[in-house]
Amino acid sequence: MMRLLRRPNLRAIRSSRAVTSISGVEKHNGYLQPDFTTPEKLQSFQLKSSNELLRTLIILRLSAIDAFVYHSEKILTTARAFLGQRIFDALMKWTFYGQFAAGESVETLTYSVKKLRESGVRSMLCIPIETTATNEDDLKLGSSMWEKNAGIVSECIDMTDKLEKGGFSQLKLTALCEPELLLNMNEKLIPYEYNHAEPHEWSIRRIGELLKSERYEDINIETFNDTTNEQLRAAFQRFDKLAMSCAEKGITFTIDAEQTYIQAALAFFVLTLQQKYNRTYPMVYNTYQCYRKDTLTRIKADYEYAKANGFKIAGKLVRGAYMAEERQLAAETGSEDPINEGYDKTTEMYHSVVDFVLPLVKAGESGFMVATHNENTILYVLKRMKELSIEKENRGISFAQLYGMCDHITEALGKINVGVYKSVPYGTVDSTLLYLTRRAQENRSVLERGKIETGIVIEELFRRSKEYFKKGSKDIETSS
Ligand SMILES: Cc1cc2nc3c(=O)[nH]c(=O)nc-3n(C[C@H](O)[C@H](O)[C@H](O)COP(=O)(O)OP(=O)(O)OC[C@H]3O[C@@H](n4cnc5c(N)ncnc54)[C@H](O)[C@@H]3O)c2cc1C
Repeated sequence: MMRLLRRPNLRAIRSSRAVTSISGVEKHNGYLQPDFTTPEKLQSFQLKSSNELLRTLIILRLSAIDAFVYHSEKILTTARAFLGQRIFDALMKWTFYGQFAAGESVETLTYSVKKLRESGVRSMLCIPIETTATNEDDLKLGSSMWEKNAGIVSECIDMTDKLEKGGFSQLKLTALCEPELLLNMNEKLIPYEYNHAEPHEWSIRRIGELLKSERYEDINIETFNDTTNEQLRAAFQRFDKLAMSCAEKGITFTIDAEQTYIQAALAFFVLTLQQKYNRTYPMVYNTYQCYRKDTLTRIKADYEYAKANGFKIAGKLVRGAYMAEERQLAAETGSEDPINEGYDKTTEMYHSVVDFVLPLVKAGESGFMVATHNENTILYVLKRMKELSIEKENRGISFAQLYGMCDHITEALGKINVGVYKSVPYGTVDSTLLYLTRRAQENRSVLERGKIETGIVIEELFRRSKEYFKKGSKDIETSS
């Protein structure tokens, strides 16, 4: 449980660091042992001004308050109504927005990307738009909305090409098609989730071929009515155009995983795109949520199908962001909870998936991104890479954290020269706020570990002020 941290207990922080920094890793293993915890050793936060560090400290303390995190959306909406848009925007830019989003203009975004680059970190740009299939307002959205969103995502891909050549672009398919289409597809696709063997009307091979020749008008599912088929064709065309733009620019097209009640549909879209684009190298990335009980089974099924059909699977590995919602839904509908029984089981699943995919990366058959803020999991992956003699420069493996979260970990990874990314959301204060508050809620346990980050930030601020006063007194001595 998260509690209000009135005064971080540095002694407790130091002892918890000892566990996180060495657990499961041999000492003295060269580049494979980053130290995530000592600001001086790593010169962590060197690119942050003291003001920015102070802001991080305030945000970390606020994010550790249960009531604030739970009601953040309501608190921020009320604050906006009370303060007015201009003052609210200014306040947000100094606090949450400034911490978790990279800016709204090309200039501010360019500056943020450049700063990350200076510490060996690359940017994975994303536009935080999404809809939910359980929100009635979202269900009523018209088709022009999806075209408009596709235009925004397309601009994001262009921006990635400009600022982070050959990098990753990240998006949510729920921003680009009707929620009811995904619900309809999901229902039909569940029987094929663990076994894509064909023939049947959901043939990945058949639709992949139609995508290859851009014959979107021939995409048709017999058991769908005309409207749903129309939505399906339009969705495929939209996704394919965006993937094509990435392919032309050499950008990786990364698709987020979302709730279980639409995930079979999202995974189907990803596999058909992979069938078209991942022939020579993994350009389209899926996302595998390791908090699900069936993740290893699903990734093995995807791999078997891809291998038999001459393409490569690839993906971002995450623990998963919708746990509370999934559990609540399972309880309400009386269905089996899709989430692992406890945190340790999720970690076990994550590490088994890592064990399954690393040999594929070594064989050049796949690409994976380890998207986590968990030090032990990162150290586990680095240890397994060493055991399998996978070079740290291997482009098939990369790491990622969210912008504004666990920066000390990202910088530590940047220093040992592995491929490391920040997921960088950008846009106006209003367009990013919902995403940012949701992120804070989704990542409560990460923010709980913010206690460790809080300690490091305090130490760094303390070190800087000591240096400042030392320098100041020297200047005084010299001048007297
Ligand atoms: C670059 C990037 C991209 C991301 N993309 C996605 C995405 O596409 N889809 C998505 O869903 N999430 C995504 N995430 C969010 C990610 O799922 C969260 O950051 C993550 O859940 C926090 O896990 P962690 O490994 O960083 O931290 P940890 O603190 O080690 O893990 C916390 C997570 O463990 C799991 N967990 C906690 N308690 C339990 C329990 N009792 N039982 C079972 N499991 C438990 C939950 O998933 C929880 O969020 C992304 C994150 C990053 C960094």
